Amino acid sequence: ALYAHLQRMSLHFFTSTRSGELISRLNNDVVGAQRAITGTLIDLITNVITLAVTLVVILGLNWQLTLLATFVLPLFIVPARRVGRVLRRVTRAQMEANAEMTALMQETLGVSGALLVKLFGRREDMNVRFHEKATRVGELGVRAALVGRAFFVLISLVAAVGTATVYWMGGYLAIRGVLQVGDIVAFALYLPRLYGPLAALINARVDLATSLVSFERVFEVLDLPVAIADAPDALSLERVQGRVEFDHVWFAYPAGGMPMLSERGDGVRPLAASATRRWALEDVSFTVEPGQLVALVGPSGAGKTTITYLLPRLYDPDRGVIRIDGHDIRQVSLASLSAAIGMVTQETYLFHDTVRANLRFARPEATEAEMIAACRAANIHDLIASLPDGYDTIVGERGYRFSGGEKQRLAIARVILKDPRILVLDEATSSLDSESERLVQEALATVMRGRTSIVIAHRLSTILAADRILVLDEGRIVEEGTHADLLRRGGLYARLYQTQFQAKGVTGDW
Ligand code: ATP
Repeated sequence: ALYAHLQRMSLHFFTSTRSGELISRLNNDVVGAQRAITGTLIDLITNVITLAVTLVVILGLNWQLTLLATFVLPLFIVPARRVGRVLRRVTRAQMEANAEMTALMQETLGVSGALLVKLFGRREDMNVRFHEKATRVGELGVRAALVGRAFFVLISLVAAVGTATVYWMGGYLAIRGVLQVGDIVAFALYLPRLYGPLAALINARVDLATSLVSFERVFEVLDLPVAIADAPDALSLERVQGRVEFDHVWFAYPAGGMPMLSERGDGVRPLAASATRRWALEDVSFTVEPGQLVALVGPSGAGKTTITYLLPRLYDPDRGVIRIDGHDIRQVSLASLSAAIGMVTQETYLFHDTVRANLRFARPEATEAEMIAACRAANIHDLIASLPDGYDTIVGERGYRFSGGEKQRLAIARVILKDPRILVLDEATSSLDSESERLVQEALATVMRGRTSIVIAHRLSTILAADRILVLDEGRIVEEGTHADLLRRGGLYARLYQTQFQAKGVTGDW
């Protein structure tokens, strides 16, 4: 349930939460919560039964001694409360420290993190940081064990006091001839069956207290609201034409991290701590007719990527409406929306799996022939076929097995296989050599044919091919038109063009 809930969380949640923290909750806390059921509950039942039966038997033997034996009961209960409280605190700290350690491992043992550590020669620093975190986990573990152990000793002591009192009082009664020595011995033999389950029950209370910490940490996540979900009467987009309309759209990225997770410890830190929200998009309106190619250009940070994120509802706009074929996308089911839109981002993410599995991720039911056709169209089939394991080649974490251009073409093949009506594309800024560049360009031209395409354009060829260019600056569309129109106007576009292309001799990247 926790994993399923996490899958439904918005992109904002993932941009503001450390994945290691989530993994730790999935691993450690779910198991911690399970312990409450598997261990504690069964003990609880057996001990209650033993306790009840023993009480009946010893009451039958001698009610005065029974009273005396249970006299020490408060001595069990009072410390249990205190210990429970202390253990809860220690356990929470322990779980948080564990999460921090997991996050550090996850960040520095992934390919990107490991590469960064190597390139900047920070191995020793990372060792020190890890040592600190691991030591804290260790220390908290020792503290929890010590508190638990001390409590156990205390309980044993109380039980011993109880037994001694029974012997003392029993001896007195025997001397006075009220009781038989045999009865006292029988009674005393029953005492461990009274104190044993009692101690176990009280221990269970303490165990339960620590398991509750895990429960709380699991429910903290389960209770997080799902920001972007299907409307109750969401309609399914059928036979999409591909008309895209932004109607006076305003959007600012949510400030800060997820409120619930970021408050505790420093395990989960919001990326943007400031509470000031700045418009990333201001009053953006445009329409793309089916089959048209629209290029987005503008300086860095202008809001180009943001526009492409709003269309598949990775975020919802604060004001204004986005429509596909005239339907407000908030009224459309997320499944049909994501089926209609194909996205190729700048950075290609591939799972650590075979090429085939990565391609099929786009459409699991695709046939082998369809997959090969998609790879041919993306100019990547020959390369895959030439590998010893062909389509069964493992791509390695994040696709490190492939070059930048190859990964881009794999991503394009993946989107061709998905066959969406609307294509959103972020052209890579990293320059490829002219041969890879040509292969990627050809692949892109194939995939864009006949589809509505919105492209964050970095290449002149794309800009020239576009039906319309939207020039963005600080979240606003400042100019709009064809390449020739915009050049004539002599505004921001013309300036960008001059600095980017003319200075470099026209063939460069945007
Ligand atoms: P580039 O060409 O450099 O990729 P861009 O035009 O695509 O730039 P966007 O990524 O859309 O720019 O960013 C627009 C603004 O929104 C920037 O000021 C950026 O700092 C901000 N921004 C982007 N992502 C987030 C986020 N997750 N949280 C907060 N602010 C963000």
